[in-house]
Amino acid sequence: MTTVLHKVRLIMDLRRDGITDTKVLSAMEGIPREKFVPAALKSRAYENTALPISFNQTVSQPTVVARMATALELGDRLKLLEIGTGSGYNAAVLSRLVRRVYTIERFRPMVLGAEAIFSDLGLHNITAILGDGMRGWSPQAPFDRICVTAAAPEPPAQLIDQLAEGGIMVMPVGGPHQVQTLMRYRKRESRILEEPLDQVRFVPLIADVAEETQAS
Ligand code: SAH
Repeated sequence: MTTVLHKVRLIMDLRRDGITDTKVLSAMEGIPREKFVPAALKSRAYENTALPISFNQTVSQPTVVARMATALELGDRLKLLEIGTGSGYNAAVLSRLVRRVYTIERFRPMVLGAEAIFSDLGLHNITAILGDGMRGWSPQAPFDRICVTAAAPEPPAQLIDQLAEGGIMVMPVGGPHQVQTLMRYRKRESRILEEPLDQVRFVPLIADVAEETQAS
């Protein structure tokens, strides 16, 4: 099958999973997932499943990327922070739906790999940063939206602090070896409203930038 047909099938899968937001669907259609997965898995790039990438991490399932994008209520004037660049796929999809994306990753090779793909695809509104995403990115705070793509038992306090008034953060909450709950947090008059959305499974959020020699 050609890439075009694979993409059409993926969009049909997303619709079947209840993704109806046309902006989200067209952002997903516009990003070639095969660029973000390892060479050996290219033939599976358009399957609606999570796939392994380097350093024992995973690129999220397309349905989950689309659900998070929908839950974030995105718009083209917004500034978004993503935690966990990984392959860069999620950041690329989000970059089609907001004005500017900042994305933080703790593995340097992943930052470099994602940056190369962003520039290859002409996605110029994404800045990838090596850092500990649990601390957010204060030079650019506050953020209208925050998308956390790794799980922790609690939302990191610094991320909540860096969320703008009226802002939305979406994050998988729960321990590493259990099903987690995708949570939505809204900041309203400095109060945080929480809302559970879905059951999900993400790799854990790990503190600090990885040592250059660290394999996972
Ligand atoms: N959004 C990614 C999915 C990545 S999986 C994609 O589309 O491919 C989660 C990523 O979060 C991994 O790459 C992992 O290294 C990263 N991560 C985990 N803890 C982190 C932290 N404290 N700061 C930044 N990145 C972190």
